[in-house]
Amino acid sequence: MAQETSRDVGPIVLLGPPGAGKGTQAKRIMEKYLVPQVSTGDLLRYNVAQGTELGRAAQAVMARGELVSDDLVCEMVRQRLKQPDCHRGYILDGFPRTAAQAGWLDALLDDRLFDNSRPTRAWPIVIRLEVDYNELLCRITGRRSCPTCGRIYNIHFQPPAVDELCDVDGTKLETRNDDRLEVIQPRLAAYQEQTAPVADYYQRTGRLICVNGDQAVDEVTRQIFRIIEDHHS
Ligand code: ADP
Ligand code: ADP
Repeated sequence: MAQETSRDVGPIVLLGPPGAGKGTQAKRIMEKYLVPQVSTGDLLRYNVAQGTELGRAAQAVMARGELVSDDLVCEMVRQRLKQPDCHRGYILDGFPRTAAQAGWLDALLDDRLFDNSRPTRAWPIVIRLEVDYNELLCRITGRRSCPTCGRIYNIHFQPPAVDELCDVDGTKLETRNDDRLEVIQPRLAAYQEQTAPVADYYQRTGRLICVNGDQAVDEVTRQIFRIIEDHHS
């Protein structure tokens, strides 16, 4: 896949319900434009695994399929976006997830607009992946990921070459703790109640771009790349 090393792509926000393909697409944008994926889910799972104070506060909430508090998540994102690898742009995957987080992000980016030391464009490209409900259930229950390299698979749609082993490094694939059927329902409910308004927020300000996420992975990627290219042309 062709890489673009020099372009400032600025912030890109990927919205969509659990299982929509945000992580899968974020990794492809990262490979092409060489900007980091900032996945709040991955960052929180890392904190849980490390047993940090944040991880201890988030663990039970995540296991129930509910959202971690805005204060904790926004502070975690603030720390991550300060890192130098975010200066040319970054892909927010799983953030913002509440209207309060979306307002907080706009305020943060507004501040940066007046900070000439940070060249990153202020306003994000906001892309929502839309996927049919039954397809989401199938994707979530079939999801597996590599604990070593983070690559995402699906036992139905994107299986590894050798059953349950990562194609890249041979590590045994894992199922996420919250991808169990009994946790999926509360996660989808949290999306409807708390995250759907985020799309409305961006829609009202004319910044929401919708992509049909039911399509094959490559087709979704092609459309996302086109949106990014159009935004910068
Ligand atoms: P999210 O980050 O939005 O929760 P993921 O990127 O982890 O979603 O994808 C969820 C599951 O669906 C994974 O198992 C992934 O391999 C699979 N998947 C992602 N995009 C597609 C697609 N366009 N078609 C079929 N399966 C997909
Ligand atoms: P998915 O890829 O299936 O959409 P994530 O990996 O993004 O799921 O998130 C997993 C869990 O981490 C969420 O169910 C929630 O508990 C927590 N989480 C992730 N991002 C946020 C956020 N922006 N605000 C609050 N909680 C979050």
